[in-house]
Amino acid sequence: MIKAHSSREWIRRSFTTVKGREFQVSIGIIHGAKPGPTLAHVGGQHGMEHMGPIILRDFFDELDPEIVCGTVYVCPCANPLALELDEEVYPEFEDDLSSFRQTIKQREDLGQYNMNRLWPDWDSKGVAGQIVQWIWQTMIVPADVVIDHHAVKAAHKPYIFVEKPSIPWTPFLGVEAVWSTGPVPVDPTQYVYRRLGMAAQLAGKIGICFEYSVQRGVKEPERENGRWGLYNLMKAMRMIEGEPEIRKPVWLLAADGGPYWGEGMAELNSAFLGHPHYSVEEYQPLKKGQLIAEIRSLETNEALEQVTAPDDCLMLDRKPSAVCRPGERLCRVHTNARILAKPGGYAVPDAAFKSQYLSLP
Ligand SMILES: [Zn+2]
Repeated sequence: MIKAHSSREWIRRSFTTVKGREFQVSIGIIHGAKPGPTLAHVGGQHGMEHMGPIILRDFFDELDPEIVCGTVYVCPCANPLALELDEEVYPEFEDDLSSFRQTIKQREDLGQYNMNRLWPDWDSKGVAGQIVQWIWQTMIVPADVVIDHHAVKAAHKPYIFVEKPSIPWTPFLGVEAVWSTGPVPVDPTQYVYRRLGMAAQLAGKIGICFEYSVQRGVKEPERENGRWGLYNLMKAMRMIEGEPEIRKPVWLLAADGGPYWGEGMAELNSAFLGHPHYSVEEYQPLKKGQLIAEIRSLETNEALEQVTAPDDCLMLDRKPSAVCRPGERLCRVHTNARILAKPGGYAVPDAAFKSQYLSLP
């Protein structure tokens, strides 16, 4: 029998900004030794989110094409100029970055600069839109599963954002929480929905947005855990050998009727200025009245306040900074979280993808 040809290569394309800056974007391709599904990873759309690019490079370097069934695409740095600035976007048409920053009040103000609002081919005058179109045609169109790597401002643990149809594939990525944005919206063309995950979903693929837990920095433990999740998903997809594992309980935060996870979510504020001393972890189930954090005075060191669980609930993200101020959000909790997967108690979904290789034996 003739052995199939496996390979690993980078393809690169040059782009030029409106002000004449030339730069390249790279896509890595692994053609596995055997046929199988196609998996696409995109990172670095937002320039202050560096974990995805680092993990995807590690992953691409390490993965042996000889053991892969199918094809893997990685684009670790979709937006190199934004990454260089360590900013969410590359404001290509602006003359003054600091005055541009001051005009931004919310995400929507970023307009066509926000690469993750241009999928798959929204009419854009800028270079971000050109990159999106190249990535879409080259690696998203052929993919069965698309993972978009982002990072939240600050959390203690990573989590996932996902539309309802792709939820069953999320537990393999090794995170403890899946925040569902709900069913695919009636009008998915609105600005907020022109994300890669949503666009992949609408194109009949599995689309998942992975959120690492730090912006403008690198958390070393997430490099290893992140790679573990990528291999584990490939086991679930039957792209590499081995049984996928669920290492920790995975919680699903979903609104049954609504478009977002907000139903059941509560924000807890502190009434005092001080250091919060937390006594619970993110994604720990809490009983009503259980202590979440004590606010300790910076002057007397005494306890000023005890913040407790308002109901039986799941602890969500904690305040990123070390000092809390009166009326500021200390943490969020969710009263309607459900277990999505447990160690030893979760099966690979039998999805009807276009690829025959994803069906179980
Ligand atoms: Zn992002």
